[in-house]
Amino acid sequence: MKILKTLSVLLTVVMALSSCSKAADTSESIAQTTANSTETTENSAQTTTATAAEYNYTQELNVIDDKYRTFYEVFVYSYADSDGDGIGDLNGLAAKLDYIQEMGFNGIWLMPINPSTTYHKYDVIDYMDIDKEYGTLEDFQNLLNECHKRDIRLIMDFVVNHTSTRHEWFKQAVSALENGEDSPYIDYYNFSQNKSEIDQPYKAGNSDWYYEGKFWSEMPDLNLENESLRADLEEIMAFWLDMGVDGFRIDAAKEFYSGNPEKNIEVLKWLSDFVHGYKEDSYVVAEVWEGFTAMSKYYESGVDSLFNFAFSQETGVIAKTLGFSKSKNAAREFGAAMETVDTKLSSISENAIDAPFFTNHDTARASGFFNRDSDKIKMAGALNLFMSGNVFVYYGEEIGMSGSGRDENKRAPYVWSSSGSDFDTVGPADMETVTHSFDGAAEQLDDELSILNFYKQVIRIRNENPEIARGTVENLEIGDAASICAVKKTYGESEIFLVYNISDEEATVNPAGTELAGKAIRGYVSAQGGEVTLVSDELVLPPYSVVVLK
Ligand code: CA
Repeated sequence: MKILKTLSVLLTVVMALSSCSKAADTSESIAQTTANSTETTENSAQTTTATAAEYNYTQELNVIDDKYRTFYEVFVYSYADSDGDGIGDLNGLAAKLDYIQEMGFNGIWLMPINPSTTYHKYDVIDYMDIDKEYGTLEDFQNLLNECHKRDIRLIMDFVVNHTSTRHEWFKQAVSALENGEDSPYIDYYNFSQNKSEIDQPYKAGNSDWYYEGKFWSEMPDLNLENESLRADLEEIMAFWLDMGVDGFRIDAAKEFYSGNPEKNIEVLKWLSDFVHGYKEDSYVVAEVWEGFTAMSKYYESGVDSLFNFAFSQETGVIAKTLGFSKSKNAAREFGAAMETVDTKLSSISENAIDAPFFTNHDTARASGFFNRDSDKIKMAGALNLFMSGNVFVYYGEEIGMSGSGRDENKRAPYVWSSSGSDFDTVGPADMETVTHSFDGAAEQLDDELSILNFYKQVIRIRNENPEIARGTVENLEIGDAASICAVKKTYGESEIFLVYNISDEEATVNPAGTELAGKAIRGYVSAQGGEVTLVSDELVLPPYSVVVLK
């Protein structure tokens, strides 16, 4: 019995992956780990009793090759290991691209991969090489090629607020100061002999100078006004763009000149103009960890996107909508908030593309926000992924991984299977024990009501309907304001409608006399697997569901 169950799980997993053109690596690893996980498989088979309603709304994929994509944020260290040292690497990631493609993601943001002293690698020693833990430049070229074969664009973290103290520029600058000599690299950083002039000052070697280290003593801040530095950074960006990189994620843009948005915007404009000028369709997204109004001002720089922190994390709009808000009109306010984002951003820059996300490597994971309530975890994914713009999903959110407290815990090894496998990574050294409440990817692939399959269906619908990512949002005041959010998205001549039931009870909406009248179902997701039905004047939405009408 045990063997039969395992075999059937294994077969289903292999079949689920057989549509991939080059699924061999992925299916092999997942099937292999499934075979080793009889106990877990037994458990999940016993607890998985519910099934989803029959679904008759699959449309043709309609993916437009532009900047409105669905990105997956990958922390290479904790993702997939190819050589058995327990540290994720570029070849490990390359072997998982079929999985990423099968999920529907068509963009990847790689956290830093340059040589560094830390596990997270946000202190760069050499901007034109790959950290040895992760592989080589050849491995990176291969990863890029494999991404592009699958129409996945790859952007890399570009950390230019600061370098490592071990970067050659900094070493030469400090050495010159110690010896009372001149060096062009002294002006690459913010040095002063007057300690009080420096934000977060640290002593520069044995000299009587101090340098700025906003984040950490080993991360000296760069002086981004220096023209020689800018020329060097342009050369670095050109190096990666020439290799085929599709753009950059700019780290810590708010801290280029802390407390001086005007100067930060000027730096961001220079970066963004250079990248777009060098390679026209490349994509730049910047991190400005601020409230919506302060963040949106940075669109004046002409950057493609800024992360929409206002909707993210435990305190953001998505989490509030799902139960942290005391408002009686929570669902309708979510629609209004999406309309506000759209209106505000397009008023600042006609090329602005919102970059919604729910969690990232600096935030706690969704599982903890919602006390491991899978319905809310799923719905948070839907609220994020049905937003207009270029949406980001942090690796592991699609399987409801846990992770909160210290940063290392938020960057735990991806759970490829509940039993662990050769492909598992060990995670950062200072990570505490992170206990996951949900199965690994292999088991979830086989469970039609899993968080993973819910995410997959949401992304599928996003990839079937280009209006979802690109449409102009209009909030419609239809249905119960506490539980029903209804929005229209207009993209060119095409209009599409999304109706969300943001509650744990079935809800009914009467389309008669509204803009929803006469529309048909294009697709839906529902957290518990219930069916969305539409009969003339009655649209029935199961608990935590979203339907797309056209
Ligand atoms: Ca490795």
